[in-house]
Amino acid sequence: MQITGIELRRIAMPLVAPFRTSFGTETTRDVLLVRVVTPDAEGWGECVAMSEPLYSSEYVDGAADVMRRFLIPALPRTADPQAVGPALAPIRGHRMAKAALEAAVLDASLRITGESFGHYLGATRDRVPCGVSVGITGSVAELLDTVAAYVEEGYVRVKLKIGPGWDVTPVRAVRERFGEDLLLQVDANAAYTLADARHLARLDAFDLLLIEQPLADDDLVQHARLARTLRTPICLDESIESAAHAAAAITLGACSVVNVKPGRVGGYLEARRIHDLCRAHGVAVWCGGMLETGIGRAANVALAALPGFTLPGDTSASRRYFGTDVTPPFELSGGHLDVPAGAGLGVEPIPDVLNEVTTATEWIPF
Ligand SMILES: [Mg+2]
Repeated sequence: MQITGIELRRIAMPLVAPFRTSFGTETTRDVLLVRVVTPDAEGWGECVAMSEPLYSSEYVDGAADVMRRFLIPALPRTADPQAVGPALAPIRGHRMAKAALEAAVLDASLRITGESFGHYLGATRDRVPCGVSVGITGSVAELLDTVAAYVEEGYVRVKLKIGPGWDVTPVRAVRERFGEDLLLQVDANAAYTLADARHLARLDAFDLLLIEQPLADDDLVQHARLARTLRTPICLDESIESAAHAAAAITLGACSVVNVKPGRVGGYLEARRIHDLCRAHGVAVWCGGMLETGIGRAANVALAALPGFTLPGDTSASRRYFGTDVTPPFELSGGHLDVPAGAGLGVEPIPDVLNEVTTATEWIPF
């Protein structure tokens, strides 16, 4: 199956509410979509890079540039998903850009064979439990109202974004208001240092499922030290960009949980390798989110249905982020999302909606 060309499509998706983390606030999701075209099928991939290099070094303009100048020219001419990673390996980094291309090739090839993403990856469930990620709000009262609305919607787990000055007080307030039964975790997005260890230990009182990425992304040794002083399990996100990083983190004792984001680790195939490695070592994994549209969400939900994903992910419903999604919306049912069963991603963009949010397209012929 020859690839005849690739479209890069930039879309601007207004968020239903600003999303604030320890590194910044987003009001519109600037997304780069990839469409791989073959004579028999098209495949879609979503690049999760953000508009600014704050979560990681990647950003949307940079992803588009590296795709058109280096990655797309290096792609195999035939749409073989297993060949994409090795072909792109000589180009350093740029994992989110690589992941989007691999996902689009994988989608195209699966649409031809009629196999679903979930079946291909090894999913063992047809629905997955969903958590929600709650940004930093202006006040504790606003946070409690926001969490209450999500709990009412049926989310089975709540994650609070934290940072210096917004940690113990909001976590205590949520625990007191919603009780011991609420599955609760926090995400610091690398906002602390080891000097904050005693302060972070105060979170042990609230029976959290985990604390995500408390320290800088390259602080594996410090995370291992922190893990020995906290009762709350440490989960790594930004630190884990490959299965090799996951192996190092596990060996060092830097984490006991891993947040798997396919974009961050270079694709769904590497994400599956991390799943397999963690499962073999008894390390729990869950599927993170990067404010994906329905295209990326479909693939994430399929990944989250693998057996080692034993904790609820940030695989929220479409309306958590967008008033109108580019695909038919993912909707919660009893706190779960259904894993798409159709060929490939099992969902496709709605042309009218897609055109409305499109800000630029670029066709790269093969
Ligand atoms: Mg995170």
